[in-house]
Amino acid sequence: MNKQLGIRFSKINNKEILEQRLELLKLSGIKDFFVDRTETPDKGEILKKFALEYKDCKRCGLYETRNHFVYGEGNPDAVIMFIGEGPGEQEDKQGHPFVGAAGKLFNKMLNAISLKRNEIYITNVVKCRPPNNRNPLSEEISSCIPYLYEQISIIKPKIICALGKVAGNSLLNNDNTLGSMRDRFYHFQDAKLMVTYHPSALLYHLEWKRPAWEDLKMLMIEYRKL
Ligand code: SF4
Repeated sequence: MNKQLGIRFSKINNKEILEQRLELLKLSGIKDFFVDRTETPDKGEILKKFALEYKDCKRCGLYETRNHFVYGEGNPDAVIMFIGEGPGEQEDKQGHPFVGAAGKLFNKMLNAISLKRNEIYITNVVKCRPPNNRNPLSEEISSCIPYLYEQISIIKPKIICALGKVAGNSLLNNDNTLGSMRDRFYHFQDAKLMVTYHPSALLYHLEWKRPAWEDLKMLMIEYRKL
């Protein structure tokens, strides 16, 4: 039988081990070898590199009051990406997205649809906290959103869930109400995009928990189709 086998030299950098492996493969009947020198880009490494590169960004005025630039975190190969509007007080203090009370609720929402934080990627439209948690201004969003587009193009999620009106408006480039953006999927690059409530809004508006749950079920049904 004529078998072909690709070996990445970058993964085997010890000559002796490589020779032993080739010998074993020959003994098992594999006679033809080829070397694939192409490298699969490591998305995690790329994201880490960019986070370091951008951490001192001064493209908009939000750099003046930030404690931490919060780039985003999670699984770089995630199928689902969640996007909020910007870091809150705890996120700004700790340098991680969704770690305060809203973050705890977000984790519960994920658990309810059998997802874990390490399966998804989460970030925000702006990477620095707007003072007193005000909504980011349109010029701040336009300055920062290229970082988000770049993250999306690296991660290549199949589903994007925009959390809150600001994230929905920024990604869909409209000024619609949250209610009118919910309850459907949109095409966004190669992904399906949906909009639901931001967990911080659910902390204060318990009456929105039921429709938020309906949105999560819609997300889960789409995820299971993949
Ligand atoms: S919000 Fe974005 S554009 Fe503005 S300073 Fe922070 S990283 Fe730069």
